[in-house]
Amino acid sequence: MDCPKCSGEMELVYYNQIEVDRCTSCGGLWFQPEELRALRDDIWMADYIIDSGDKSVGKKANAMKEYHCPMCDAPMLQEADEEQPHITYESCPNGHGTYLDSGEFTDLVRKTFWDKFKRAR
Ligand SMILES: [Zn+2]
Ligand SMILES: [Zn+2]
Repeated sequence: MDCPKCSGEMELVYYNQIEVDRCTSCGGLWFQPEELRALRDDIWMADYIIDSGDKSVGKKANAMKEYHCPMCDAPMLQEADEEQPHITYESCPNGHGTYLDSGEFTDLVRKTFWDKFKRAR
């Protein structure tokens, strides 16, 4: 599978039992829907393991507007995160998965982490 943004090679990375595809070139992450849900529910240190890309590269990739699902080649739809609207990510209209630029997953995870921390006190 090639990266939908930069056509770099995707490698599999693992967090617990979950496999995620990460671009070896721009550091973007491709999640299948169930993977993203599982990771958001179980995020302890996930960002340090998975989202190791360079944030400035991620910012550049985030500015790209035209790219296609690596599975079915449909144009991806841009969505903003419900809780953190400054984070935008791209999803396949046919439900194959979601693409996060380098650094975006860390952002999503931190918010969730601090929410949990606050609730625990
Ligand atoms: Zn890439
Ligand atoms: Zn697709």
